[in-house]
Amino acid sequence: MTTKTLLLGAVASAALTLGGAIAPATAEPIVSEPLELDIFFHFRDKYGWDEEWAVAKELTNKTGITLKGTAPVSAGNTRELFNLMIASGDLPDIVGGEFRGSGMKEAFDQYGMEGAFQPLNDLIAEHAPEIQKMLDENPVVKAAISAPDGNIYYVPYMPDGDVARVWYIRQDWLDKLGLEQPKTVDELYDVLVAFRDQDPNGNGEADEVPYFVRHTEEALRLVTLWGARSTGSDTYHQFYIDEGTVAHPYAHENFRTGIANVAKWYDEGLIDKEVFTRKSRARDELLGGNTGGVTHDWVASTAGYNSKLQDQIEGFSFLPMAPPADINGKVWEEHGRIAVKPSGWAIGFSNEHPEETIKLFNYYFTEEGRRMANFGVEGLTYDMVDGKPMFKDSVLNGDGAVVGQMWEIGAQIPVGFQQDYEYERQWTNEIALKGIEMYSQGDYVVDQFLGFAMNAEEKEVYDKYWPNLLSFMQESYEKWILGASDVEADWEGYQAQLERLGYAEVLAALQSSYDRQYGN
Ligand code: CA
Repeated sequence: MTTKTLLLGAVASAALTLGGAIAPATAEPIVSEPLELDIFFHFRDKYGWDEEWAVAKELTNKTGITLKGTAPVSAGNTRELFNLMIASGDLPDIVGGEFRGSGMKEAFDQYGMEGAFQPLNDLIAEHAPEIQKMLDENPVVKAAISAPDGNIYYVPYMPDGDVARVWYIRQDWLDKLGLEQPKTVDELYDVLVAFRDQDPNGNGEADEVPYFVRHTEEALRLVTLWGARSTGSDTYHQFYIDEGTVAHPYAHENFRTGIANVAKWYDEGLIDKEVFTRKSRARDELLGGNTGGVTHDWVASTAGYNSKLQDQIEGFSFLPMAPPADINGKVWEEHGRIAVKPSGWAIGFSNEHPEETIKLFNYYFTEEGRRMANFGVEGLTYDMVDGKPMFKDSVLNGDGAVVGQMWEIGAQIPVGFQQDYEYERQWTNEIALKGIEMYSQGDYVVDQFLGFAMNAEEKEVYDKYWPNLLSFMQESYEKWILGASDVEADWEGYQAQLERLGYAEVLAALQSSYDRQYGN
């Protein structure tokens, strides 16, 4: 490993002149002589690039390139480790991963524009045909991963499939009460009232919790039944794009109507009274306690309660249902998987083998490399059956979730690669698969906004105003849901306060960012 000194600002041109001397004619293996590159890679505060990973070894077998990790292979705060690496000025050949709770895109962009990372556009065009093909086929993805200066500084991790959270209902309770799955917001209201009042669990007590959630924001998301938004992407509290105009859900007129009705449902005992405190215990407590009726949660893990509870609760049947139509008659699901994550990997400024490195990145987008990134190593974790990778029984019935087993060997990690939903289908149960099929066929899931790439000026405005604005919005809707204050009485003052806190300035900054990034 060589030590390099990072002089921010002075290195942008240096990066461009440090071209690789070797340009092998064949794509595989990428190099004729073994090549070692060092890599900072860390994710989930838990895993660092490990040469002992089966996938890391396979990568060397296939490409001739060995990646030597510089981050700890064990637990640690990914963001702090990243900041230390940047501050040290010792930048490895490759940098990548994912900060817990958010991506690395902002860091790739910011430090990329300061010269820490090499711009990849030309390297991709010249040496990475599979990545180029993906970008050509997905112009929105290309826009989403571009920095404010128009350059691409990282190759992203791209999830597959679009269904994520769905509605679930106690089908056996419906059957017992002689009710159908609710098809509209009004029918949902009637079903929740019936669950509250008609003792579907049959214990003689009014202990049912009609609607419950693990995340308070999933109660807030009920506003979608009144045509409002609760977020614009696969994470909470995000801006959304309304026909080319940037807007925030909590400032919109529809939100006023939606939150007033959510408050009413809460007041009537249709929403869990402990919705702000129960959190991650909700499914275990309320499904396990035979008291929860309806929820909105991840399709696969929620389906799992059917097998978990079948011996404990007679007739327990918790099934996916289509989203009830909103007050405008529209059937839609706000939450879905995002097409591209703000994580992946980048090339350090002092990397003397940018061509070989981008070819390595490209390998992950070939059929063979993508299979490795998704399924691990043939013969070890999967076998080819009728031309398709199938996980071995030892993985499907192995210790812990399949995805966790993959992380342990370096597959399904947030390097730049395209996930293949097939990897997940093989360990997803029938009930969840039916739910996924229902939501896919109904085309219910709305497009998830892929995010902004703000320039320094826009970012300054955003950072100055947005944290306070979001806090004020959250305090306000909490008061409204809990009945501590009345949204109808408050709305005018609420809007005025948003303006005082700089809402218009934030919108203007984001609109400018959006127009530059996605305008074409
Ligand atoms: Ca009861």
